[in-house]
Amino acid sequence: MALLITSECINCDMCLPECPNTAIFEGKKFYEIDANRCTECVGFYPEPTCVAVCPINCIIPDPAHPEEQTQLLEKFQQLNIISN
Ligand code: SF4
Ligand code: SF4
Repeated sequence: MALLITSECINCDMCLPECPNTAIFEGKKFYEIDANRCTECVGFYPEPTCVAVCPINCIIPDPAHPEEQTQLLEKFQQLNIISN
């Protein structure tokens, strides 16, 4: 499933440059993740890199976007085709 940034975010900008899918953006109050672009880093890294760099652990699974590993891989492939 795509990940979600909670309102605890302190807008530190650690995660945004690390996202390989450019899924993270500055929202009105705190950083947000575009669920259509987040693959949980499937296709790039073994673990979500934004979670690894976030100093306050405010990035969590988004229950509104349940996805299996195969669906995340398909999303990665579609994004990769579009961007290449
Ligand atoms: S899990 Fe990966 S793809 Fe999703 S927002 Fe975080 S860094 Fe980007
Ligand atoms: S790393 Fe965490 S606290 Fe920093 S901007 Fe990203 S989500 Fe917010």
